[in-house]
Parts: sequence; structure tokens; C-alpha cells
Amino acid sequence: MEPLGREYLLHEEIGRGAMAMVRRATSRHGGPPLAAKLLRPELAGDRRVRELFLREEAALRALDHPAVVRLRDLIVEGGTLALVMEFVDGPNLRRYLTMRGGRLTPGEVVTIAAQTAAALAAAHERGIVHLDLKPENILVRQGSTPPDIRVSDFGVAVLLNDTDHIAYGGTPGYTAPEIFQGGQPTPAADVWSLGVLLLEMTTGHPAGDPSTLPGPLGPVARDCLAADPRHRPPARRVAAYLQQFASAVRPSSAPPAAVPDPTPFGGDVEPTTLALGFPPPELPQPTFPPPAPPQPPRPAFGAHYQPPARRSGPRSVPPSPARRDTIGSWAGQMPDSGAHQPPPARPRRKARWRTGPLVTLGLGALAAAVVAGVTVSAAAGERAGNLVTQVSMPPPVSPVEADPSVSGSPRAPATLPPTSDVALPPLNTPSAERLRVTMAGKVDDAGTLAISIRDGAAIAYVCDGDRLESWLKGTAKNGLLNLTGKNNTRITGLFDATRAAGEITVEGRTHRFEIGVVRKPSGLYRLASRVGTAKVNGSWIVLPDGRQVGVLLRDEQPGPAPTLDLTNRSAVVDGQVLTGATTIDVDTGEGF
Ligand code: ADP
Ligand code: MG
Repeated sequence: MEPLGREYLLHEEIGRGAMAMVRRATSRHGGPPLAAKLLRPELAGDRRVRELFLREEAALRALDHPAVVRLRDLIVEGGTLALVMEFVDGPNLRRYLTMRGGRLTPGEVVTIAAQTAAALAAAHERGIVHLDLKPENILVRQGSTPPDIRVSDFGVAVLLNDTDHIAYGGTPGYTAPEIFQGGQPTPAADVWSLGVLLLEMTTGHPAGDPSTLPGPLGPVARDCLAADPRHRPPARRVAAYLQQFASAVRPSSAPPAAVPDPTPFGGDVEPTTLALGFPPPELPQPTFPPPAPPQPPRPAFGAHYQPPARRSGPRSVPPSPARRDTIGSWAGQMPDSGAHQPPPARPRRKARWRTGPLVTLGLGALAAAVVAGVTVSAAAGERAGNLVTQVSMPPPVSPVEADPSVSGSPRAPATLPPTSDVALPPLNTPSAERLRVTMAGKVDDAGTLAISIRDGAAIAYVCDGDRLESWLKGTAKNGLLNLTGKNNTRITGLFDATRAAGEITVEGRTHRFEIGVVRKPSGLYRLASRVGTAKVNGSWIVLPDGRQVGVLLRDEQPGPAPTLDLTNRSAVVDGQVLTGATTIDVDTGEGF
């Protein structure tokens, strides 16, 4: 345990990046746990690195958003430069992904992406471009369900209103093509990285065809990864759109609503045996994006990017040696009109993050002094030769109005960067009204699943052909699946006209699924009858290759189902031919 400045104590290391080591810290005055990001000593002498470090401080200082890691202090002490921040107790997204087997459920993807987009939007509205968005720089709060994240590491961020626009941007695979081509850093560069994140969180790989992602994720990822930065949606719009889905995804620990279904599937099955929960109230209709005029075909993902014609000449600034994980790039002066508006006034900081008594200095003066390696003299009484300067938050300035679309974030300035003017191609997410489709396929370690969707209603059946089985009922609206069944069986996920993906919880265990469209006679069937005194209920999923997976309940005891004769809708049980099987038919509505 070592002191940091007058107020803080440094504890164990909790993380490390190319530029810094991060240690847990506490204040001598008590208060919440903190993290101190310390510039690596071997880099402290590098003027450019010190400048980047201070730029991060300036970026964080200008931001007050629930999904951005909160800055508390800048400490300049002898050769030490440190940012004291809120401690985010939990793994970064890279570790979180590894812990989860490399990819997340669509529900988690939507939740994380919505928060990240909102954080980016808040930064962009203040003229800050992150430029290094990747899983290592997103922190996930331990045990939060759905995941609660903080965007961190604004270490290569550019401040668009700054006079100096040297950018050391990007990690290969995450950085927008125009940045590598020497283009100007615009907010759209972060939107590209967000598209890569969407791909990686969903598929486990940061590259691939974004349009294959399920439900609303496909169109959003595709738009974020538009080769031309002007065709990418602004982060604010992505945030508002994804937020609708995020708020509809319930924490997996929450029990489903247990409202009995008065209209069970089988005519002679007692209602109590098929009591099904109903889904939560209807979702609002998506508002993103509005119908757009047709656009020229977009080059295939990964196609060679053509930089925009207008480019300013390169400034040959070599990449910082600090960023071994990044590729150096440069950016010229920003155009002085049109592309970017000056950022609005700084938001008000929360009072608890203003500490005192502190020496408040003009950042410009401090930055100049620190970059130049000048020792900044602070309060009297400091130890000679080891001066401590603490910079408090700036005084509050005019608060910005809240944007009703995303809670906790300030309203966009009247004029946004040009990306917001570009109309987006319509999403291919089906509207609630007219999608009629059955999807079927395997569930990881839990048998076979079929979901029939008709005009916003959904019916599903999962079984293992032996003893595990469950019927579920719910909604398929706005690209989101939400179904519940007996014994807390539930499905949440995303769908579009061709695929559905998500997670199913059955018998207390959660499994992932990804299934595709099947056509008649594939689909769902059930038969309710009697053999002697025994009540018999059979349920089947018929797959496109003709295979059947089914479970037969005899007086509630499950076992493998006999073959269902699809022509006669009959099955033989104990030598007796049982007829009258029904189907879940998305075209006629039978079974819905
Ligand atoms: P660098 O600029 O060197 O990449 P980062 O700011 O990305 O440094 O921090 C490196 C790692 O330290 C992160 O990936 C994360 O694991 C951890 N870390 C950073 N900030 C915090 C924080 N506020 N709370 C908890 N852990 C943090
Ligand atoms: Mg980092």
C-alpha cells in the first residue's frame, strides 16, 4: 500500500494496458472504492504519451454519463501521472466474453450495445471521439444482470474542438477503415467499432457478415459497418433503437409471470396442466430508422474501402510507442465549418465526485506544464521535490436538458454531425403484424426446439425425444421473442424472417439456440387422447429431413413418442391407433 498524492492509497494491480497500470485505490477520507490509472513510469518521459494521458483526463472530465467510467481526480506528483476513477468491480468485456465461452446471448448483446451506444452518443455530443472502442476498454460490473457496463480508456480519444488533432488511433480489427486510410476521426469511426463489437459479442468473431446476425442486430450491425462513414447511423440513434429491446429483455434470474392460460392447446387437456405464463406488455414499435430512399448497393463487408475524396494532407506524426496494441494513424486539422459543431457546455458533475480542499487549476495551464515536464507547484506544505497537484472538477456550468429517448444522457446539440442527415436503409426486422413462419432446430444440450410465429404471437415446443419437454407461449414482436411455459420454462431471443436465436431456460438450466425457418409439413404437432383409462398426450417436432422428435405423456409420465403418421395425423400407442392430431399452423392459425 503506497500513497498517491495527499489523499489516496494505492492497493493491488487490477489491470494493465499499453499505456497504463491500473491499481485499486482508496481515499484516506473513506468513500467508494476507486481505481488509479497510472501512466507507466517508462513512458512518463514521453511528451506525446503524457499528452495523450491528459487528453483522456480532459475527455473523461467532460463526460458525465452512467455508462462512462467516472473520473474523480488527476494526480501529478513528481514523475507520476495518475487518473483516479470510479472502481468498476468486475471483468473487462474481453474477460467476460472468455468467461462466457466467447459469445453472449442476443439479450446480453443488446443490453451491452445499447449502453455502449448511449455512452458514445454522450461523448460525441461533446465533441469527443473515443477511437479505441474494443472489449478490453469496456468494463462489466460484477454480477449485474443484465450486464451493466462502463466505457473506459479514452486514452486515444480526440477532442474535436481541440486545436491539435493528432490521433493515435485504433486497434486492428476494431478501427474504422477511414482512420487507417488517414481520414479524419469523426464520431462515425466509433460507430464502426460498435458494429464490430456487435458482431464479436454475437458470433464470437470480430469479423464476418453482419447481416447474418439475428433479429434487429443484423440490420444495426450492417449499418454501423457501412464502408462510407457518412452512411453509418449516429450513436444516439443506435442507442435509442437498441434500448427498446434492452428494456424488454428481462434478467434471467427474474421468474416469468405465472398467469394461467385459459385456452390451452389441446381440446381435452385440462387447463391446469397447461397453465402458461403470458409475456410482458407489448413493446413500443421501433422508431429507427424512418423509411429511406433506396441507396446504392453497399460494397460487401470487408470490401476494399474507398476513402472520401476530401482529405487533408498527412502530418507525419509517428505512432506512440506506448500503443503497441494499436496502429498509429494521424489526422489533420478538422474542417473549420460544417462537419462538427463545437461541443455544448460541460455537464454538471455530481457533487460527491467533487472533493476538497483541492487546488483547482486551469486545465490548459496544467496540461502545458505537465506536457512540457514542468513541475507544477501546488499547495504550500507539500514535500519538497515531490509536489502534489490535484485538479478538482470544474465548477458547474449550465445543465443540459435531458433527452427523453435515452435516460441519463444529455440532449444532442441542435445540429449533429453529418451522419445524422443520412437516411438509413430500412431495417429488415419484420413488423409485428404479418410474419408467419415456423423455425426449428437443435438446442445446445437440450434437444430440439420449434417456434411458430404468427402475427406477433408465438408458440414453441422443446423436447429431447425422451423425457424432457415443454410447451411455451408468448410474443414475437419487434424482432424480440418472449415466451414462457410451465415450471419457469422461458425463451428470450431475437428473430427475423429467416432465423431466431436466443436462450431457453428449461428445468432450471439455460441453453442457447439458433434455429432457422422450416416449411410444412415440418413443424409442431400434438395429439391428445385416451388409451384405456390412461390419458395420453403426444407432442412432436417434425424436422425438414423428415425426422421426428417427440415425447408422449401417459398420465403425465413422459417417454419417447411413437412415429406420427402425418398423412392420417395418427399414431399407434399400445397397438391402438389414435387419430386427430392437430398442428400449429402459422398460415391457417390452427393451434394459435
Ligand atoms: P490502457 O490505456 O493502458 O489500455 P485501460 O484504461 O484500458 O488502460 O485499463 C487497463 C485495464 O485496467 C482495463 O482493461 C481494465 O481491466 C482495468 N481497469 C481500467 N479502469 C478500471 C476501473 N475504473 N475499474 C476497474 N478496472 C479498471
Ligand atoms: Mg485499454
